[in-house]
Amino acid sequence: MSARVEVHGHTVSLEHYIDGARVGSPTTFEDRSPIDGSLLANVCRGDAATANAAISAAVRAFPAWSGLGPEGRAPYLHRLAELIDAHVDHIAEVECWDMAMLERSLKARVIGRGARNFRAYADLSCEYEERLWQSNGTTNRVVRDPSGPAVVITPWNAPFMLSTWKTAPALAAGCTVVLKPAEWSPLSCSMLFDLVDQAGFPSGVFNLVQGTGEEVGAALVADTRVRRLSFTGSPETARHIGHAGAENIVPFTAELGGKNPFLVFADADLDAAAAKAALQFDDAGQVCLSGTRLLVEESVVEDFLTRFHAQVDRHVLGDPHDEATTISPLIHPDHLARVSGFVERARSAGDEIVRGGQQPDSGGLWYEPTLIRPQSNDSEVVQHEVFGPVLTIQTFASEAEAIELANSTAYGLSGILFTGSAERADRVGRAVRAGTVWVNCFLVRDLTAPFGGAGISGIGREGGDYALDFYSDLKTLQILNGTVS
Ligand code: NAD
Repeated sequence: MSARVEVHGHTVSLEHYIDGARVGSPTTFEDRSPIDGSLLANVCRGDAATANAAISAAVRAFPAWSGLGPEGRAPYLHRLAELIDAHVDHIAEVECWDMAMLERSLKARVIGRGARNFRAYADLSCEYEERLWQSNGTTNRVVRDPSGPAVVITPWNAPFMLSTWKTAPALAAGCTVVLKPAEWSPLSCSMLFDLVDQAGFPSGVFNLVQGTGEEVGAALVADTRVRRLSFTGSPETARHIGHAGAENIVPFTAELGGKNPFLVFADADLDAAAAKAALQFDDAGQVCLSGTRLLVEESVVEDFLTRFHAQVDRHVLGDPHDEATTISPLIHPDHLARVSGFVERARSAGDEIVRGGQQPDSGGLWYEPTLIRPQSNDSEVVQHEVFGPVLTIQTFASEAEAIELANSTAYGLSGILFTGSAERADRVGRAVRAGTVWVNCFLVRDLTAPFGGAGISGIGREGGDYALDFYSDLKTLQILNGTVS
């Protein structure tokens, strides 16, 4: 097997990156492009021995890396950020083939967010001000101790950005890291590790293993030497990882799925609301934060729908490399079957398919932007995450009913609210159960804000100091006053 492959003009390593070097495996898994089904690579398939090697390297590297302190670590993160900025186009082009996210979004914002993640956490970790106070004749300080080797497991959507979002704070906080990206889109994370190598990170600080969740993923999270587990993915997998964390008493953070309400009140700017609602189909709806449940005030639903349909009509299904394309294919044939399965079950149960509800004639892994009016709030398609271009529409007659519907699923990741009233924005924004509520906007992110989910959408918070605290053991240092000078 060749250790590197050409992916449409870009060389990508197929190996793990462990202890500062590329390392192979005797077996591989196939990685195919969602765009045309072509075989992109046979990627090394890690196993229990790979997991053991990666964690052993992270354990060995931990004392020196944690001992550098935030100022000693920050230059590595800044160097990596500069290298990412210099390679945005290459990474974007490969990730477009591998995951089929729109190339122009990848180039304009998504891959560059990786550089922002490393910069932001390098700076934030250095700016930390220890909490200091007096009590009972003693001086108290809150000190951050790096917690140890961390395992980070990430999903197939936006793999580069999401992996850097989680590994940047871990490294800045002084943890050593083993990253396992998802097996459906492993290539852009491999490219990250060429840059890690160039940035000169000490061996063993930042490791990559490729492979399936059931094999290498499960071995990583079960290792008793790991001190933090950070996961983004589905609630089903989170349960497995949570069991491993509980067994070894290891703190665990989980960013999971969503079934997010998109609330439109009669006092909203309906054009703006409809335009943002139509954007929920972007990336073929494979976005955890998407507002997939449209909840619209009864008195304006027809006006809203007219505007919404006009916006959705502008969507272009096509090759994600093309400028004109707005809806890309789904990631994998299994995922297409999952998405169409939800729609077919909704149809059979008597839910109304308002638009879409099928694949376009051109076939491939594309699915039409779909809107469903469910028979009841208990419909499966209302209560469960589809993770595809499928929205539902329901109406409400009062603010109380809007909040009740918004909070009526087991999830609580995000909420989107359109209103012209400041009082309502505050009232409803507080009442919606979610980690983030956007009012009259969507996907605007401040990296210092807490990020995560309520209900089955997650455990813990990442973002800013919240992530740095997670990757630290917070210690109280208490000194009796007058006894030291
Ligand atoms: P998934 O749970 O199937 O897989 C995620 C990762 O877990 C993959 O790397 C997989 O290999 C690994 N894994 C699977 N089984 C494992 C095991 N037993 N032990 C260790 N690792 C294991 O999720 P997915 O299908 O890749 O991603 C889609 C899901 O991710 C959706 O639910 C989506 O909403 C969610 N998501 C959430 C956020 C967020 O920030 N909240 C962001 C992106 C995606």
